[in-house]
Amino acid sequence: MSDKVIKAIVCPGCGELSKAEIHTSINPARDKTIRKRVLDGELFDFRCPSCGYTAKLNYPLLYNDMKNRFMVYLIPKIDRFQLCDNELENKYSNLRNINKRIVPTFNAFKEKLFIFESGLDDMAVELTKLAISQTVSKKLGNIEVNEGYLSMYDRETNTMGFTYFTGKDKEPYVQTARLEIYGKSKGIIDKFAYKDKKLKGFIKIDREWAENVLYRYKHFRHMEKVRKLNED
Ligand SMILES: [Zn+2]
Repeated sequence: MSDKVIKAIVCPGCGELSKAEIHTSINPARDKTIRKRVLDGELFDFRCPSCGYTAKLNYPLLYNDMKNRFMVYLIPKIDRFQLCDNELENKYSNLRNINKRIVPTFNAFKEKLFIFESGLDDMAVELTKLAISQTVSKKLGNIEVNEGYLSMYDRETNTMGFTYFTGKDKEPYVQTARLEIYGKSKGIIDKFAYKDKKLKGFIKIDREWAENVLYRYKHFRHMEKVRKLNED
């Protein structure tokens, strides 16, 4: 269901008090236009009826796509890893194997939709993105490569592409990769992040999370090497 509330808003332009319709949760299956309106950012638009001032509203929004079995909860600036909302858990307690994520930004929100609608595993995507960002950094002379997002996925040509923001000026840089890297990431996830797959509530799967998994993986590989050396 799509839930809405009416909120009183003081216009940042003229100071007049007006009302805005705010969506708290949306379901693309019930409302065919809402997916496009949320991705365009239109759902967050505020226009003051008195002076015409426009602004983007920041508010929590739950996107609920049961057909593709995921829920993405956009909570601006949330810095927690896990969110257990009893009310939500009870409401959807009959649903199993749903990917539930929290995201702190609109860009991360859009990326999650793209990933899950493409039928991909976002944990493996995040790990792949991290591994490839390191390759890009080396290729460009060790410049800083931080943020990035999945910008292309093509099963037929067996490729996926990431757009990164590089260097001080955050220049966009697109890097494509074979899906084999994604497959390998999936294998690492199954082995080193299986506990996260079973966590209750909404969790944040981002670069920081992927760094953690990569660390665990590298540590394991290192220990394996040490063990082998000792055996010889
Ligand atoms: Zn105004």
